[in-house]
Amino acid sequence: MNVALSGEFGVRVRRNEPLSRHTSWHVGGPAEVFFNPRDLADLAAFLRAVPPEVPIHWIGLGSNLLVRDGGLPGVVISTHGTLDALERRSETGVYAQAGVVCAQLARACIQWGLGPAEFFAGIPGTLGGALAMNAGAFGGETWQHVRTVETIDRAGRVRARAAAEYRVSYRQVLAPAPEEWFIAAHLSFERRPGTHSGEVRTLLERRKAAQPIGEWSCGSVFTNPPGQHAAQLIESAGLKGFRLGDASVSLKHANFIINHGQARAADLERLIAHVRAEVERVHGVRLDPEVRIVGVP
Ligand SMILES: Cc1cc2nc3c(=O)[nH]c(=O)nc-3n(C[C@H](O)[C@H](O)[C@H](O)COP(=O)(O)OP(=O)(O)OC[C@H]3O[C@@H](n4cnc5c(N)ncnc54)[C@H](O)[C@@H]3O)c2cc1C
Repeated sequence: MNVALSGEFGVRVRRNEPLSRHTSWHVGGPAEVFFNPRDLADLAAFLRAVPPEVPIHWIGLGSNLLVRDGGLPGVVISTHGTLDALERRSETGVYAQAGVVCAQLARACIQWGLGPAEFFAGIPGTLGGALAMNAGAFGGETWQHVRTVETIDRAGRVRARAAAEYRVSYRQVLAPAPEEWFIAAHLSFERRPGTHSGEVRTLLERRKAAQPIGEWSCGSVFTNPPGQHAAQLIESAGLKGFRLGDASVSLKHANFIINHGQARAADLERLIAHVRAEVERVHGVRLDPEVRIVGVP
């Protein structure tokens, strides 16, 4: 769509940046404009420079994103390596910006004697992504710990919002207003004296035993339907190991789809559609994707 940007941003952004470099599935066409802000003031100035008709997308570590092969028209804002302030603000309160990596948050909380935050250790994304997804594991969920969030809008306006302003459920967060993105959160934990690093190790080992960690995936592709496990439904539909081109249903965990190296987003999307159709045919259950599918084919 030919995004025109005024001033220094015209030269600082990356144009046609392949998003396969920024997603854990290693697929995805180009971002028309890719921007990694230096800090909050830089981000606000950039947002003000983006013309109102240009779509804006956000990306953290791309660990829950399927970007189609035609890429993303408009602007992609990446928080990777930036907006990464992480501070203990009170006895049980933690302030973390959206670019903080979840594993880092888990480590800091353990060091500060706060918890339970161990579950964050296994989520390979940023806090911004975890807020958008209500990411969780082993019984813990991101929004259980959110008191307030700070957001920014297209005009670069920063707002504080209480957690109660959001409708939060399993892997779903409905915001009170469109086009407001997370820049930080005030989180609260319990005092948990003693060392809990052993618990992180145990959780990571459990994860490694059950999931194809280290292979190219986006974690669980589908959410669990109420009272059921997506992985069990997929496995009992006979789909474990089912392969389309270079994409396959993981042999280790049927709710993971692996890119073995050469798969394109279209292959992954076709495999997702096939799994959905088969599970519906065999079990009469419609699976909903957890992974966010964006971009043009
Ligand atoms: C091996 C593996 C294991 C995983 N295990 C788990 C698990 O146990 N539990 C779990 O919940 N998830 C899991 N995931 C999925 C993923 O890590 C989480 O959903 C994570 O929270 C995504 O964070 P991200 O920074 O990578 O977000 P991205 O994938 O970059 O983005 C996800 C969504 O969040 C939006 N977003 C990102 N940043 C912001 C922001 N600042 N403001 C507003 N919106 C934003 C994006 O636009 C997109 O819609 C796993 C993934 C992998 C690869």
